[in-house]
Amino acid sequence: MSAVPELPAETDTVIVGGGVIGTSIAYFLVTETDRDVTLVEKDSIAAGSTGDSSAIIRHHYGEKEHYTRMALWSHEFYRRFEELVGEPIAYEECPRVVFAEEGSDDAAYADAGYDILSRLDVPTERYEGETLEAEFPMLSLDEFDFAVSDLTAAYSDGTDVASGFARAAAEEGATVVTGTEVTDVAIDEGEVTAVKTDDGTAACEELVLAAGPWTPQLAEMLGIDVPVTPSRERVILLDPDEEFHDKYPESVPIAGLPGGYYIRPEFGDSVLMATHHSGEKVDPDRYQNAPDQSTLLELHETVAEYVPDLDDAGVQGRYSGVYSNSPDHDFILDGCGPDGCYVACGFSGHGFKQAPAVGRVMTDLLDAGESDLVDLDFFSLSRFETSEAGHGGGIAY
Ligand SMILES: Cc1cc2nc3c(=O)[nH]c(=O)nc-3n(C[C@H](O)[C@H](O)[C@H](O)COP(=O)(O)OP(=O)(O)OC[C@H]3O[C@@H](n4cnc5c(N)ncnc54)[C@H](O)[C@@H]3O)c2cc1C
Repeated sequence: MSAVPELPAETDTVIVGGGVIGTSIAYFLVTETDRDVTLVEKDSIAAGSTGDSSAIIRHHYGEKEHYTRMALWSHEFYRRFEELVGEPIAYEECPRVVFAEEGSDDAAYADAGYDILSRLDVPTERYEGETLEAEFPMLSLDEFDFAVSDLTAAYSDGTDVASGFARAAAEEGATVVTGTEVTDVAIDEGEVTAVKTDDGTAACEELVLAAGPWTPQLAEMLGIDVPVTPSRERVILLDPDEEFHDKYPESVPIAGLPGGYYIRPEFGDSVLMATHHSGEKVDPDRYQNAPDQSTLLELHETVAEYVPDLDDAGVQGRYSGVYSNSPDHDFILDGCGPDGCYVACGFSGHGFKQAPAVGRVMTDLLDAGESDLVDLDFFSLSRFETSEAGHGGGIAY
C-alpha cells in the first residue's frame, strides 16, 4: 500500500479543498500547465458538500445561456470521464423536467431554457395537455399546464468524481495531501509566499481557495470578504415497492416539485428527494446531519401530493449536506486579495455539474487571466462591491 503523501516544503500552487471543485482544478492545472501543484484537504477527498451531492447534470438554466454552455462542456467531459481521466464514475442518463403554469415565473424560465436548448441543438421537448400526463404517469400534475424536458440530463456521484480527479491529478504529478488543515497564509509585500498547516508549512506562489462552505473563513484570514452563506439541505432516500417499479419501469424523472423540493432516481432502486435552497443557514462544522421527523413528514406530504404511488414507500436513508450560496447564486471565480490568491466558491447548489468547466476556467485564469469558455467578469468577487446583491435575484434556478 502506498503511503499518504506529506506536505512538500515548497510547491508552485496550493489548492485548499479536496471537493469536486478543488480536485478538478488540481487535475486541469497539472495536466494543462507545468506547475508543481499541491492539494491540501483537512479531512478526506469529498468529505464536504461533494460527498452529499445529488450530482445532477443538466443543461436547462432558463435564460442563463452562459451556464448552459458551461454545463454542456462539463457534461461532455463527464461522458468521457473514464477515457480522459482514466477513472470510472457512476453515470446514468435521465430527463430533467421543469413543470409550469402558463403566465407564471416558472413558465418564463421553462420557455427561456427551451428556446436556448433548441437553438443549441440540445435534445429538448415541450409537453402540454394529454401528452404531459401520458409522459409522466407517475406524477400528479393537475396544477401544471406544460413541461419542458432536458432530455439528455443525467446524474452521477460526487465522491466518484472527486476521487477520480484526485487520483488522476496525483498520477500526473500533483501532491494530494489529506488529513491536513490549512491554518494560515504567509504574505510578504502583498504576495502569497507560503501556506501554513497543522502539519508544517509549504512555500508557494499561488493559492486557490476551493474550500466550499469553509471558503469565507479562510478568505477572512487574508482580509477578503467572500459573501457566501452555507445552507443545510435535507435528503431522503425512498424505497418504492415492487408494484411501483412494475408500473413505472423508468422510475421518476429528475424534477423540481413545489415547495422547494426535487426528486431523482437513485442508483439501485430507490428515489432521492431533497430540498433546494432551504434558506436554513448553518455552520458547516456544526449542523444536524439526519433530517428530523418534521422534515420526514413534510417530504412525505409532498410525495403524497405529487408522486402518489410513492406515498407508502419506506425511508431507506436520510442525511443533510451544505450548499454554499452567494447572494445572487452565481459563482465566484476570481483572483483577489494578495497577489497569487484565487477563490472558487459560491456554487449555490450547482457546483457538481459545472466542476469540469470550473477546473478548466480556473486554470485559464491562473495561467492567462482570461478564458475562452466564459466571460470571467461575470464571476468576479468585485461585483459585490458595487451592490451587495451582486447581479441580483438570488433565484433558486
Ligand atoms: C445535498 C446536496 C445536493 C446537491 N446536488 C447537486 C446537484 O444535483 N448538482 C450539482 O451540480 N450540484 C449539487 N450540489 C452542489 C455541489 O455538490 C457543490 O456545489 C459542490 O460539491 C461543491 O464542491 P466544493 O469542492 O466547492 O466544496 P466541498 O465539497 O465542500 O469541498 C471543500 C473541501 O474543503 C475542505 N476544507 C475546508 N477547509 C479546509 C482547510 N482549512 N484546510 C484544508 N481543507 C479544507 C473540506 O474538508 C472539503 O472537503 C449539491 C450539494 C448538496 C449539499
